[in-house]
Amino acid sequence: MFAGRQRHSSTATSRSCSRRSWTTGTNVRVGFVGLAASKLPELFADHSDFVVAGEPENAAGRLFRGEVLRGVTDSLPLDDLDALPFPRWDLVGLPAMRRRATWLRVRPLSGGFPVLASRGCPEFCTYCPHRILAAHRERRVAAIADELQELSARYPRPYVIFRDPLFSENRDRCLALCEEILSRGLQIRFECETRLDRLDEALLSVMHRAGLRAMSFGVESVDPQTLRKAGRRPIPQPHQRAIMTFCRELGVMTAAFYVFGFLQDTWSSIAVTIDHAIQLGSTFAQFKILTPYPGTPLWKQMKPLVYEKDWEKFDGFTPTFRHPNITSSELMFLLGAAYSRFYVRPTFLANQLGIRSAGVRQMLERWDARVFERQSRREIAMVSRAVSC
Ligand code: SF4
Repeated sequence: MFAGRQRHSSTATSRSCSRRSWTTGTNVRVGFVGLAASKLPELFADHSDFVVAGEPENAAGRLFRGEVLRGVTDSLPLDDLDALPFPRWDLVGLPAMRRRATWLRVRPLSGGFPVLASRGCPEFCTYCPHRILAAHRERRVAAIADELQELSARYPRPYVIFRDPLFSENRDRCLALCEEILSRGLQIRFECETRLDRLDEALLSVMHRAGLRAMSFGVESVDPQTLRKAGRRPIPQPHQRAIMTFCRELGVMTAAFYVFGFLQDTWSSIAVTIDHAIQLGSTFAQFKILTPYPGTPLWKQMKPLVYEKDWEKFDGFTPTFRHPNITSSELMFLLGAAYSRFYVRPTFLANQLGIRSAGVRQMLERWDARVFERQSRREIAMVSRAVSC
């Protein structure tokens, strides 16, 4: 949300009358930005003086130059990301003292410094909101390294969160950035989000030396056909497992994302995906329910099935559409079961503690089996069937 005084308004009230906010009745005018504002401006129109449709920088520049924005205002995407100045980290950065990792978390409790090396995504997943506002663009490697250098000069060993949806999309560029970090001697730690097929052991080794400590990635579903129907290129399971094993060896924390409720999904296919999540052995997993977001191709496809009218329920954890094979309450049950099965088991704790001894792990896997049996009995008692394949 933008909220700010128009320039000159405090010195010329009569002149600024046309600039008064009819929403707040003061000289503070209110506007909304972001994906929801861009794709559903009608939700915001009655509560604001203006709504920005598109990336915010173009509109922000016009506001700064004194233009009065009204109604739905188109804001063109930035062609050149390097045209943006670096953020004023001196204004927003927290004291380095508070930026310590804890034993369970790589990311400091107070968060990290968000940095963008690229924007958008060149992939075609039909459910994804990251690719619908503007095309994929990349910053120059030297410019990113300059920003990291400035950050490092201000804060010792900063923890950087690369906000790119697909950080290692371009292997050579990713390698060049890591090598630049190393050659400049920058002492950073970082996390990123990417696809597992955009990683290999050689690249991961260099990323780790440059400071990679955690990464997240989508697996979504175990079924290749389901993924293809959603415009997503499947990644072979042996490659997924090889990357996970290598990350464990390097000590890189991993978080895998899964989605339940693709139109081809059934109770059994979701149970197989939950089983895969446990077998893959990422450090963490996040399970969500497929949500058709306005503006995505999935929204167009599924609009006739959407029954939910409350936009606050489009949160990724609430069913919003009629599924052909699974009821909404079954989806909710499967979501809860996925979290129980992934997080309530001895090997999850062993992963957190970094226990690698084969003997100990075999013993813990036997305990896992007993825990899963107990979970199955509980599931049968609750819904007459177990979440197992
Ligand atoms: S790869 Fe990830 S960021 Fe890119 S379109 Fe697919 S889900 Fe979105």
